[in-house]
Amino acid sequence: MTALKVHDLGKSFGGVKAVDGIGFELQAGELLALIGPNGAGKSTTFNMVNGQLKADRGSILLAGEELVGLQPRAIWRKGVGRTFQIAETFASLTVVENVQMALLSHDGRLFSTWRRAADHRRDDALALLDQVGMKAQADRPCSVLAYGDVKRVELAVAMANSPKLLLMDEPTAGMAPSERNSLMALTKELVVQRRMAVLFTEHSMDVVFAYADRMIVLARGRLIAEGKPLEIRDHPKVQEVYFGTGSTFAHPQAARTACRSANPLAGGSVAGPAEPDPARSLEGKT
Ligand code: ADP
Ligand code: MG
Repeated sequence: MTALKVHDLGKSFGGVKAVDGIGFELQAGELLALIGPNGAGKSTTFNMVNGQLKADRGSILLAGEELVGLQPRAIWRKGVGRTFQIAETFASLTVVENVQMALLSHDGRLFSTWRRAADHRRDDALALLDQVGMKAQADRPCSVLAYGDVKRVELAVAMANSPKLLLMDEPTAGMAPSERNSLMALTKELVVQRRMAVLFTEHSMDVVFAYADRMIVLARGRLIAEGKPLEIRDHPKVQEVYFGTGSTFAHPQAARTACRSANPLAGGSVAGPAEPDPARSLEGKT
C-alpha cells in the first residue's frame, strides 16, 4: 500500500528554489532514506510533509489524503509522526511518563492535564517501552539516560500516535557507530512489525547502506536519483554531485576504513554535522 505520494512539490525562499518540483512514493513497511549535500532541500521537504512549512506547489498524499494546506497538528492527527528530542521537552519526567504524555496527547486530552499523566494508560506506555527495549528503565528520569536510550524513548513517544508515516531527520546524529546501528536496527524492526513507513535523512552512509530499503537523492532542490542503495552508490549523477568528477568509489565495507574522509558515499558524513532545526517545536505534540 502506498503510504506517501509526493508530486511536483516545490518551495522557494526568495530567489532560492529550496525544493524544485520533486516527486516520490513511499510504501507501508518501507524505510526510505533521503540524502543529499547540505542545502539540497532535505529539511524543507520534511517540513512540508509535517506541515511546518507550506508548499508553494504540488501535492503530498498520505494514504490518498492531501496534506498540503493542513496545519501541523492536523497532519500529526492523520498519522504523520516524527521523533522529538526529549531533551528539549520533558527531560524532568520519567521515561514512562514521557510516553504517557504522548498517549494523553494522542487521546485528545488537554495538555494542561499533564499532572494526571502518571495515571494515564501506564500499561500501554510500558508495552511501547518494551518494544523499544526500555521497559526496565521506565521509572528513571529521562535526564539521566544515556543518549542512545533517550533516542529509544523518542521512538516510543512517536509510536504512541500509531503513525502511518514516521519522519526522522538525522536520527543518529551525535551517536557512536554501535548506538547508531542499534537504533536503526530497532527502527527497521518497528517498520516491519507495524507496517509503518519511515522517511529519514542520514549522514552516515554506513547506516544508509545497511538499513535503507530505498534511497532518494536531492541536489539543489531537485531529485537526481532514486533506487536501492547499491544502485544509488553506482549512479553517475550521484557521483557527480558528491565528487564533481563522476569517479567511482569503493564498496562501503572496504571503504569504511580506507577512505572515510575522502569518500562521503563510502561511510563518512555526507552533509556535515547536524544543526538544530529552527522549525522544530512542540507543534503537533500538544
Ligand atoms: P538540507 O536540509 O538538505 O541541508 P534545507 O532544506 O535546509 O537543506 O535548505 C535548502 C535551501 O533552502 C538552502 O539553500 C537553504 O539556505 C534554503 N533555506 C532553507 N530554509 C530557509 C528559510 N527558512 N529561509 C531562507 N532560506 C532557507
Ligand atoms: Mg537539513
